[in-house]
Amino acid sequence: MATALIGLGGNVGDPVAAMSAALEAIATHSRCRVTAVSRLYRTPPWGKTDQAWFFNAAARVETALEAAALLDLALGIERANRRVRTERWGPRTLDIDILDYDGRVIVSDRLTIPHPRMTERAFVLMPLADIAPDYRIEGRAVTERLGDVDSSGIEIADASPDWWRKA
Ligand code: ATP
Ligand code: CA
Ligand code: CA
Repeated sequence: MATALIGLGGNVGDPVAAMSAALEAIATHSRCRVTAVSRLYRTPPWGKTDQAWFFNAAARVETALEAAALLDLALGIERANRRVRTERWGPRTLDIDILDYDGRVIVSDRLTIPHPRMTERAFVLMPLADIAPDYRIEGRAVTERLGDVDSSGIEIADASPDWWRKA
């Protein structure tokens, strides 16, 4: 079994329902287990700022799937939630990024792990700090890295780690 850390987000339609459905789909997959889920966050848009606020969360997944198969699962769940890719970093119903896969470095056409942009993003690091505060990205722990980024505006939308089971 491998341990993966994933980031989830969305800002179109009912992102909390989409993120909950995504976690449920992973949790009920025969080759995956969801072993930790962060609190639910509300975050200002990043990169492309003229769009609605996002919801974000992170989760730890124990899985027998290889990294590429886990990506296929994530992309399939995004599609099932009617994600349409238009512009980069633009509005989306659901985004699932693989932040880490068993501490491995993977670089292929379809996959870069650890996720290269997570260290710049408070909306990724804050939820990650809930479930993996000591996880080190290139030698520095998540909690340390959180001190280097601007986390202003980020709010806790639901402080229960079971927010995704409520629907
Ligand atoms: P960003 O990657 O900056 O967060 P994004 O999530 O908006 O941007 P997407 O359009 O969701 O980007 O993803 C485009 C492609 O990125 C995916 O089809 C996938 O093949 C590739 N990709 C590379 N590395 C990863 C990763 N670690 N997790 C998820 N997708 C990845
Ligand atoms: Ca992303
Ligand atoms: Ca993505």
